[in-house]
Amino acid sequence: MNFSYWEQYELIQAADYLIIGAGITGLSTALHLKRAESHKRVVILERGMLPWGASTRNAGFACFGSVGELVMDLKHHSKAEVLELVKMRKAGLELLKSLVGHRIDYEPCGNYELFDSSEQKQWQQLKAEIPQINQLLKGVFDKPVFEESKTEFGFSGVQGMIYNRYEGMLNTGKMMQALLILVQQAGVTLLNGARVQKYSEQPNRVVVQLANGLTISADKVLLCTNAFSKDLLKMEALSPARNQVLITKPIENLKFQGAFHAENGHLYFRTVGQRVLIGGGRQHFAAEQNTTELKITKQVQDYLEEKLRQVILPEQPFEVDHRWAGIIALGTKKTPLIEQLSERIYAGVRLGGMGVALGSLVGQRLAALAAK
Ligand SMILES: Cc1cc2nc3c(=O)[nH]c(=O)nc-3n(C[C@H](O)[C@H](O)[C@H](O)COP(=O)(O)OP(=O)(O)OC[C@H]3O[C@@H](n4cnc5c(N)ncnc54)[C@H](O)[C@@H]3O)c2cc1C
Repeated sequence: MNFSYWEQYELIQAADYLIIGAGITGLSTALHLKRAESHKRVVILERGMLPWGASTRNAGFACFGSVGELVMDLKHHSKAEVLELVKMRKAGLELLKSLVGHRIDYEPCGNYELFDSSEQKQWQQLKAEIPQINQLLKGVFDKPVFEESKTEFGFSGVQGMIYNRYEGMLNTGKMMQALLILVQQAGVTLLNGARVQKYSEQPNRVVVQLANGLTISADKVLLCTNAFSKDLLKMEALSPARNQVLITKPIENLKFQGAFHAENGHLYFRTVGQRVLIGGGRQHFAAEQNTTELKITKQVQDYLEEKLRQVILPEQPFEVDHRWAGIIALGTKKTPLIEQLSERIYAGVRLGGMGVALGSLVGQRLAALAAK
């Protein structure tokens, strides 16, 4: 099939900026490019009917790191790197809120990190680390971020909790809907069902080949394909990891509200009205590493349900309403990659498990880099 004359000259045209991927990063990149250069033609190519990666499938934590995560990060990053990551996540959340804040049901509820009875040693160690971590973050937040909490939520077998006063949660669906509306209002063209197979950089343009056989050309191409970048970028420093989630039906007399983390951030749960959403646990299952398959598995779903039954809702019956999976991008460092790869190719990828916080900022920085 070829493009018709009308499609070619009115709907497609040669783009100034062609963004691949319509997740938080791609949408934010498009918005910032269009705001900086409103006369330029910005086109997003998205393979899915919806942006099917992580941005419409995450848990909606507006977070920058628990004590457990930050202490782990300090083992693989310098203090300055950890501090910079927290600053980026905080700035990203502020940017997101400034773009779509009133439309995303943002709740500044804080976040609790839980330790169960098998984690006695870790609980004692991390409790002792609270003052140092608060000291590290002193210049970033007005008040000490973390404190021990004795709040009762009706959980079973939890021996300790650390409260983070500055985190919160939002409605992921509303966030993406609001971003999609913003980019379209700004005049960005979003083409769904457009899977990019390859691209070739030529002296005066980039020619992008779609899986359906059609080609589109652009002055510059920006890859916002996060965990799905390997085929297009051949990047060694990036690997996909699957995260699975489930959400219950509304629970009568639900005893708690809020956002919670455990297992160094690998397990997370929160309330969505009277429902409980739980996700993660991938570190216990090898099959969850290095896959881009958006598929749920019985093992992980059983593990999440068991956590609900044993720890979170020990005396409350519940029914599971939805189950799904999404893919995150990991690397040896948690810092996102925002790079110019060649004269006309740019990438903003590897957002890890806190891309809700980072996505808007990565998009803003990538747009600034490409628009130079
Ligand atoms: C289950 C789960 C829970 C999470 N929970 C949280 C959370 O609570 N808080 C938080 O901060 N972060 C969370 N994250 C991480 C966060 O969602 C991601 O870091 C973030 O959404 C990454 O955004 P992105 O736009 O860079 O990538 P993505 O959202 O993955 O977008 C990449 C897009 O590129 C498209 N694409 C890929 N290849 C091609 C191609 N060849 N051609 C065209 N299009 C292509 C994909 O379809 C996709 O839409 C979670 C992630 C998952 C999976």
